[in-house]
Amino acid sequence: MTAIRHDWSRNDVRALFDLPFMDLVFRAQTVHRQHFEPNTVQVSTLLSIKTGACPEDCKYCSQSGHYDTGLDKEKLLEIQKVVEEALNAKEKGASRFCMGAAWRSPRDKDMPYVLEMVKQVKGLGLETCMTLGMLSGEQAQQLADAGLDYYNHNLDTSPEHYGKIITTRTYDDRLNTLAHVREAGIKVCCGGIVGLGEAREDRIGLLMQLANLPVHPESVPINMLVKIAGTPLGDVEDLDSFEFVRTIAVARLLMPDSHVRLSAGRETMNDEMQALCFMAGANSIFYGEKLLTTANPEAEHDRLLFARLGINPERRQDVSDEARAEAIAQSVRQQQLASLTRDAMASRDTVN
Ligand code: SF4
Repeated sequence: MTAIRHDWSRNDVRALFDLPFMDLVFRAQTVHRQHFEPNTVQVSTLLSIKTGACPEDCKYCSQSGHYDTGLDKEKLLEIQKVVEEALNAKEKGASRFCMGAAWRSPRDKDMPYVLEMVKQVKGLGLETCMTLGMLSGEQAQQLADAGLDYYNHNLDTSPEHYGKIITTRTYDDRLNTLAHVREAGIKVCCGGIVGLGEAREDRIGLLMQLANLPVHPESVPINMLVKIAGTPLGDVEDLDSFEFVRTIAVARLLMPDSHVRLSAGRETMNDEMQALCFMAGANSIFYGEKLLTTANPEAEHDRLLFARLGINPERRQDVSDEARAEAIAQSVRQQQLASLTRDAMASRDTVN
């Protein structure tokens, strides 16, 4: 079993990136096998619970209010709708349900609704994850008390490159939120995005930051930039595919006990590229936020790919029909609370 380290130097990480590709992937797969069942991949589903008009200026993001991307904005979803989507996701094989809101940080008046979402989704037997922007210590504790399993808050890129990507919140703001989440006892989901026009040194810097946190994030999403027309990074140069695989492999070697998630950008990768990422130590995927209806060709394609590769989804706790019926009944009982949400939202003249 490889030792877990938190003292990685830039030279250490650079030396891994510089390995011949086959040597790097072989080493990553070897370490992966020491820490995980090699043919198992964890599956999460992501739902946007509040979409667009975000006050932050992340230069890659379709949801930033700073750019005209033609995105349809949506207010905070009703709790019952979220529970229905969580049930759909569970039936499609997800073990974790991630709920994301395009906020700088949640307002205190939003908290009762997101806390209720956590409780009800957890009641379905799913692991819960939220990404709501920056959190105070008190908000993190409230989420922990509601039973939230994971909180996602990415570092995005290296500290050196960060100012070219986001100006409305600092790197330290992000580290502070991660510390609040850790202190509250919630598991951390934290990674970054590559293909932002950064140099390899920035990918090294990002992974060093993650790997030298006091506790490694339990989940490390590595995203390939999805270029969105209308954003400042809408036509940035493509990152070499092998460099992306190298980033996955180095993440695996630096954080052997963490789930490394193949996240955004997967839809532009062919099956062979995804298999190479699994070989390099990726062991988690998103089905993506399109998993909202019964017809979901992306999920079907993923199931087929898993079957072709002999990969099994990480086991989740099964929920009985009785528990499912009770969860739905509980959701209906919360209709009144959901109506309150609707009324409160209707009183806003802008989406924020
Ligand atoms: S904070 Fe999140 S939702 Fe808002 S612009 Fe940045 S990435 Fe997009």
